[in-house]
Amino acid sequence: MAKLKIYTFPDTVLAQKAAPVARVEKTMYKLADDMLETMYVAPGIGLAANQVGILERIIVLDTDYEYEELDEGEEAPAGAEVVAGGIITNRKPRIVINPEIIYREGSILFNEGCLSVPEFNAEVKRSEKIKLRYQDIDGVTRELSADGLLAVAIQHELDHLEGRLFIDRLSPLKKETVKKRLRLERQQREEDEDLESLLHSSASAARPKKKSKEM
Ligand SMILES: [Zn+2]
Repeated sequence: MAKLKIYTFPDTVLAQKAAPVARVEKTMYKLADDMLETMYVAPGIGLAANQVGILERIIVLDTDYEYEELDEGEEAPAGAEVVAGGIITNRKPRIVINPEIIYREGSILFNEGCLSVPEFNAEVKRSEKIKLRYQDIDGVTRELSADGLLAVAIQHELDHLEGRLFIDRLSPLKKETVKKRLRLERQQREEDEDLESLLHSSASAARPKKKSKEM
């Protein structure tokens, strides 16, 4: 497995529509595996191919796992499942290809975050229950009924495949304000990174330990 780069707003790949997968090929195992690793390490509960720069209708999901980074030199207990230097428990990965929502019921407001929209959360209205039709990694057509967090995550990831971010679902005024702020913050981050590399400071600032899992 390999960790992939996660694209962030306003990278244009996030605003593009992903194309249907014509045929599920064996080579997709590697992409799906890499997407899962990227998601677990982030940490996230869902990831769409657009977010790693690939315009194909593939998403990965796991809403239930726990991920704990190991300290340097620390060894994982025997039998523990290790992903990219961390211990993962209660892993239930889902690989979803060519997804399509075939039924919706009710609505909920959910406070969402997104790996492609760092450090921003907002309430978004979603269907409470959904039924999904998709193909699995073996190309078999399946259906999945989901509610709660899994239903929200699926709808969030399907938006990515349409080239839409959760911030696009905010009111027009709020959306513009938020996008302006996010563009400025990103510019600031990039300037800070440039300065840091200029100063040859290899001791990168401690990454804030993100607690909440995003999508
Ligand atoms: Zn997202």
